Amino acid sequence: MHSRALVLFSGGQDSTTCLAQALSKYDHVETVAFDYGQRHHVELQARLRVLEQIKLQFPQWAGKMGEDHLLDLSVLGQVSETSLTRDMAFKMEESGLPNTFVPGRNLLFLTLAAALAYRRNLEVIVTGVCETDFSGYPDCRDDTMKAMQLALSLGMDKRYLIETPLMWIDKAQTWELARQLGGQALVDLIVEHTHTCYLGDRGHRQAWGYGCGECPACVLRARGFERFSASV
Ligand code: ZN
Repeated sequence: MHSRALVLFSGGQDSTTCLAQALSKYDHVETVAFDYGQRHHVELQARLRVLEQIKLQFPQWAGKMGEDHLLDLSVLGQVSETSLTRDMAFKMEESGLPNTFVPGRNLLFLTLAAALAYRRNLEVIVTGVCETDFSGYPDCRDDTMKAMQLALSLGMDKRYLIETPLMWIDKAQTWELARQLGGQALVDLIVEHTHTCYLGDRGHRQAWGYGCGECPACVLRARGFERFSASV
């Protein structure tokens, strides 16, 4: 039986939902994020706020929350030119991928997470990657995750389980999952404290949270919230 998990936790809606699910399933849950010179440190601030609010509002989970880790991955800025690591506008590339795409980013994240999990004796690695997402990032696909689980388990001689609770659900269902896990209080916490907007906008408060309301991440979050709200 698995009991110790590491959640890749960026402070967005998806990874916060993954964290809630891990806390409802496992005895001990640690969190990790990567600092790769994102244009907006808004995300890194959001994640600390979310962790603090979960501890405050969900005492049944607070005792299970272990160390939070922040790993420096600024090297990513040296190998990729993207709108997340450079000061450039968000747009779709000819490849059909948004210019936020950092090639192999999730492969690096998982490798580092597994190395950390090895040291911390955590056997489950939870990540909020999703195939139903609009972006079609190849390193978020189910096959990629299965291949990584095998590669990491063999390469570190330790049996890892890579868990992807959001792989086959859409944004509306992600809101619904949060509601099932932590009720309206968790939905409210996600609306208020998580961050999704690519532009790092915390100046505009919408029904679904803070954001510019126009970038693809905001649009996706807004549409999902709208459909979720209509269904409850
Ligand atoms: Zn936005």
